[in-house]
Amino acid sequence: MNLASWVERNGRTHADRPAIAEGERVHATWREFARRTAAIAGGLRREFALVPGDRVAIVMRNRPDYIEALYAVWHAGLVAVPVNARLHRDEIAHILDDSGSTVVVTDEEHASDITALVDGERSARAALVAPGERWRRVASAEPIPLTAVRPEDPAWLFYTSGTTGRPKGAVLTHRNLLMASLSYFADIDPISVQDSVLHAAPLSHGSGIYGLPHVAKGAVSVLPESGGVDGAEMAALIRRWPGTSFFAAPTMVKRLAEDPAVAASDLGNLKTIIYGGAPMYLADLEHALTVFGPRLAQIYGQGESPMTITALAQADHADRAHPRWRERMESVGLARTDVLVRVVDGEGRPVPPEESGEIVVRGDVVMAGYWNKPEATAETIRDGWLHTGDIGSLDGDGYLTLRDRSKDLIISGGMNIYPREVEEALLHHPGVRAVAVVGRPDPRWGESVVAFVVPTDAAAPPGTDDLDRACLERIARFKRPKDYRFVDALPTNNYGKVLKRDLRDRLRADS
Ligand code: AMP
Repeated sequence: MNLASWVERNGRTHADRPAIAEGERVHATWREFARRTAAIAGGLRREFALVPGDRVAIVMRNRPDYIEALYAVWHAGLVAVPVNARLHRDEIAHILDDSGSTVVVTDEEHASDITALVDGERSARAALVAPGERWRRVASAEPIPLTAVRPEDPAWLFYTSGTTGRPKGAVLTHRNLLMASLSYFADIDPISVQDSVLHAAPLSHGSGIYGLPHVAKGAVSVLPESGGVDGAEMAALIRRWPGTSFFAAPTMVKRLAEDPAVAASDLGNLKTIIYGGAPMYLADLEHALTVFGPRLAQIYGQGESPMTITALAQADHADRAHPRWRERMESVGLARTDVLVRVVDGEGRPVPPEESGEIVVRGDVVMAGYWNKPEATAETIRDGWLHTGDIGSLDGDGYLTLRDRSKDLIISGGMNIYPREVEEALLHHPGVRAVAVVGRPDPRWGESVVAFVVPTDAAAPPGTDDLDRACLERIARFKRPKDYRFVDALPTNNYGKVLKRDLRDRLRADS
């Protein structure tokens, strides 16, 4: 089933209801959205002589035209390549080359960068700037009927966020994305036509994926005018749009929870904040729950299994009386309805409950493979199981706790140290605002533990003895950092994930 059929269907059933909004203003009703989708699909095919299966990249900040371009691409049987618009120009160039995108839909903000990439040598490629003269021509083309696709046809090349190595394109098929959407209804929330989805986080990642079930049910997609996360604007949009849900990285949830404009606002319309993509520390989660109430759901996923591996439901967040509530809040929840989750040892054998191993996943949501990378695909999907590269453990009830990326594990004196537990221990110290723990090569121990600490008060950072004590109260002595580095901020990528690779590089440069 073509994902764009939802738009066509809602164009009939919910014709006069809002489909896309820019801030507080309705940009298009479902009738208008459906008509524009079919017209832009026709325009893309004709203007650029595209045929089904061709790739169209989208390099834009969140705006209404983004959603129109995405569904038009699918309507025309083309493959979307949503690119994080905040990436460096060279990184964008890599994705355009790797995916073989022939058209790049972009906005004025990114037009000069993109034009430089499509010129000269790369002239097989064209830029389409929205809004603009050519976009208007494309959008006023003769509408075409919905293109039939097979469930296994690629819909979205999802470029991994590249915290390690160069990004690879996870091939997500129409079936993968349909499963991810159905699984949202099964495990996160039902959605109705009265609801809204607020796209504050980049559409090229989780926010875009969770946009799909909302489009499926005729909810309105709201694009903040700022194009990003602004507390006062988010609060106003929540007041304006009923049944609002949004996806946010844990760092964004923390920022919003600390924003006085959010705390003072009427949050009655807020339905669910879906957070995930990086660890949410317990202290931050507890604070967010006091501001937002039990309207939080956590998801664990990755581009390769689009935002769908496990979920920690709203009900788990609300169940404070449960004897294992704290442990559950530190977990990423239960396997999604459509996904099998196992924790395995080096030979691929399941390990007993509470033991750590690599998380492997199987189900109809798992990507078809990496675009044009058969070796990387064969390394990642083995015997039908997607190897996530994440280390975790299942408890007796089936709740999964993530330890770390296998690449972040520190081995010191032959002992495994998961940076996350050291970080959790240090965050209990009131003088620590944020922290990231990495390993440094060490001639004696193999690796030694180093903590990069952002102090709450830069003028009076906590003493290292104090920090040691915070660790010793909670974790074994050998896990304690051998070195503390005080920094103003941690390096993060555009999705809010801490770049541990950069921290390790810094240590290498110093030695
Ligand atoms: P990406 O494909 O860019 O979304 O990155 C996926 C990776 O982010 C996963 O493999 C995990 O390492 C991490 N991740 C995703 N969700 C969570 C979560 N809820 N808690 C901790 N880490 C997460």
